[in-house]
Amino acid sequence: MSLVIAIDGPSGVGKSSTSKELARRLNLAYLDTGAMYRAVAVAFRDSGLASNDAAGIAGLVAHSKIAISTDPNRPRVSIDGRDITKSIRDPEISAIVSTVAVVPKARELLTTKMREIIAAHGRRIVVEGRDITTVVAPDAELRLLLTADPKVRIGRRAGQLRGVDAETISDSIIRRDRDDSTVSNFTVAADGVVTIDSTHLSLDEVVEAILELLPDE
Ligand code: C5P
Repeated sequence: MSLVIAIDGPSGVGKSSTSKELARRLNLAYLDTGAMYRAVAVAFRDSGLASNDAAGIAGLVAHSKIAISTDPNRPRVSIDGRDITKSIRDPEISAIVSTVAVVPKARELLTTKMREIIAAHGRRIVVEGRDITTVVAPDAELRLLLTADPKVRIGRRAGQLRGVDAETISDSIIRRDRDDSTVSNFTVAADGVVTIDSTHLSLDEVVEAILELLPDE
């Protein structure tokens, strides 16, 4: 039986930890769509293209081969055979990823690729991002919006990125959400999407709350 769990939400809300844990517990594949945008951001950084060169950025998506693992225990991303699993997390990439994510043609091409990956896994997969519940997989069996107070999100990210200055962390949460909001709605739940506010919940409590919502198999 098909079981797509679509999870959207802003930066630092705990989407990745939640999605990976759900995939492990339910024995589903896991797709981090943000990692795909980040892979394009690495190609964009290395290309020397201008930020406003939308056609050039779309061309990067069209002509690069992005490969992404769907094993929640072994995250791996490569572009044209180059493993960039670590570098996609650099603050430098977080700072420029929205530049590629706001290009409509780049989104369209990546969305097609995401749908191919979902289909290739027999529609048994947890998919996380910003527009999964609304654009990529509006037909998912379970659609969720994770939210949390911005102060809590900044605190969680600071815990992950020890040694990174407060301004860089705030940029990667507040400014990035603002830029990303221009192309995706991940602050208000669309019809049929369940909101889970994780401000006062542990990871385990969020996962348990989601498991309660699962349709009977
Ligand atoms: O989730 P993560 O922070 O890794 O996402 C990186 C970036 O990818 C986001 O800031 C956003 O610009 C873009 N993104 C998107 N749509 C998605 C997933 C990510 O625009 N479905």
